[in-house]
Amino acid sequence: MKIQVGGLSEGLHTYAFAPTPTELGLPREFEGIVEVGATLEKTGKDLFLRVKAAAQGVWECDRCITEFRCPLSAHYVMYYVWEEEAAAQFDPSEVQLIPAGVSAIDITEDLRQTLQLAVPLKRLCRESCKGLCPQCGKNLNDGPCGCTPLAPDGRWDKLRELMTDTKHDAR
Ligand SMILES: [Zn+2]
Ligand SMILES: [Zn+2]
Repeated sequence: MKIQVGGLSEGLHTYAFAPTPTELGLPREFEGIVEVGATLEKTGKDLFLRVKAAAQGVWECDRCITEFRCPLSAHYVMYYVWEEEAAAQFDPSEVQLIPAGVSAIDITEDLRQTLQLAVPLKRLCRESCKGLCPQCGKNLNDGPCGCTPLAPDGRWDKLRELMTDTKHDAR
């Protein structure tokens, strides 16, 4: 996905792209079309690029391993300069040098990284997902299973005794 910058006039330019996740090199969890909107502002020697993207993907829930569809949005900014000295005034993560003789900037890799970072680390089909029964593997979102809960962790026995005693006292 390239934007021609050679001979670009001063001012604001807008672009729209609709690449597939495969074209962007995104993993197979991404699906459909990625909607990309970009504005490029040329002032003097600098180019200021703003990119917004909307995508969607199908992920496996961390708790119940059911696949769920999740929309994602991401945005980033980037300055492009032609001279190394000019790059020094920007945050190193937000500036790129355009090599001499190159008349187009390729935003594919930056966009791919931005979208990958937008994927939540914790993937849940819903906030209240009950997960799978550790014994029979039933998806507890579909209703309770018939299993007896596992023997409780021994470390909590003392506390449980105390709580039971309190209950007795209350009666
Ligand atoms: Zn789930
Ligand atoms: Zn069960």
